[in-house]
Amino acid sequence: MTSPGAVWVYSERHGESFRPVSLEILAAARSVADALGTKLVAVTVGAGEAPANALTYYGADEVVAVEDPLLDRYDTKLFTDLLEAELRPTDPSVLLLGATRDGQDLAGRLAVRLRTGLTAHVTSLEVDPGKRLVGWVPGFGGGIEAGVVCPNQRPAIVTVRPGVFPTPVPGEATGVVRINHPTLDESSFGSRRVSFEPKGLTVDLTRSEVLVVGGRGTDGDFSRLQRLAHCIGAEVGATRVATDSGWVERERMVGQTGVVTRPKVAVILGASGAVQFTVGIEKAGFVIAVNRDPDAPIFESADLGIVGDLAPIVDRLVRELGEA
Ligand SMILES: Cc1cc2nc3c(=O)[nH]c(=O)nc-3n(C[C@H](O)[C@H](O)[C@H](O)COP(=O)(O)OP(=O)(O)OC[C@H]3O[C@@H](n4cnc5c(N)ncnc54)[C@H](O)[C@@H]3O)c2cc1C
Repeated sequence: MTSPGAVWVYSERHGESFRPVSLEILAAARSVADALGTKLVAVTVGAGEAPANALTYYGADEVVAVEDPLLDRYDTKLFTDLLEAELRPTDPSVLLLGATRDGQDLAGRLAVRLRTGLTAHVTSLEVDPGKRLVGWVPGFGGGIEAGVVCPNQRPAIVTVRPGVFPTPVPGEATGVVRINHPTLDESSFGSRRVSFEPKGLTVDLTRSEVLVVGGRGTDGDFSRLQRLAHCIGAEVGATRVATDSGWVERERMVGQTGVVTRPKVAVILGASGAVQFTVGIEKAGFVIAVNRDPDAPIFESADLGIVGDLAPIVDRLVRELGEA
């Protein structure tokens, strides 16, 4: 059995692979475990044993894989039951999960079951001199960063936003894999699948190397941005105004409520630069902003600023890049 006090990372399955955020956290958790002087354990729940081995390439000392063919779909009650059964006897000091839809769902349930604290949506992690994990969370609309600790209970449960840590490169395989086969039947589930319709569109802006992001200044015309994105191999993102107005899908929102991105280049068009938005691009390599207001705060976040009406600027870029 795993030694008490270890750092555990929930590695969320996505078919035969893992959610990218789970690998980001696992690699980042290595230094947390080292700073706490403890082991790093990756725990995964799903159908098929094979993917569990992949986790050994990201720094885990131990991989615990709960496997059964019935675990090919997420179920709140069942996944909570299975994780609780793994966590309770081993008394981890920390449990990290990706702030995905399922990760957030599980984290809240587990925090209640284990009577412990949950720090949600952190954007960075640190171990303080007292050997406590500090999860940093943007607060009060992004105006401050709050460091949250869970001093008296364990595990300290933390959900981490996708994209805040770099995508890790697999290294040498380390650690041992332990496969657990729970006894399950349909009654183990809290829900029953009546029908299943996969969602057509899935955009993951956290993986895009180049982003073209539009705000209110686009006046809802995202076709112009899509043409530019097409020319430069970019994905299209948006401010909250643009997604709330229904101009583009909600999953394209960048920022505090949306996603934190780390593209090499971000082109920001017609966005004022509210702090709740810029938190989503502050890890970009190079930011180009176009705004007709020379005093727009977005220019403080930009490496290159262009003052002017975005429509003719984008049209010209598309024309010249298209010809090139
Ligand atoms: C708790 C909370 C969470 C939030 N989370 C998010 C979030 O995740 N993401 C997010 O984006 N927002 C978020 N917001 C909202 C945020 O505060 C801003 O309201 C929003 O980002 C503004 O969007 P915008 O820049 O598109 O619009 P505006 O602030 O209205 O800015 C439009 C800009 O376009 C410029 N412009 C207008 N026409 C043109 C033109 N033709 N050419 C060039 N420039 C032009 C204007 O000069 C202006 O600067 C959040 C707010 C709160 C309170």
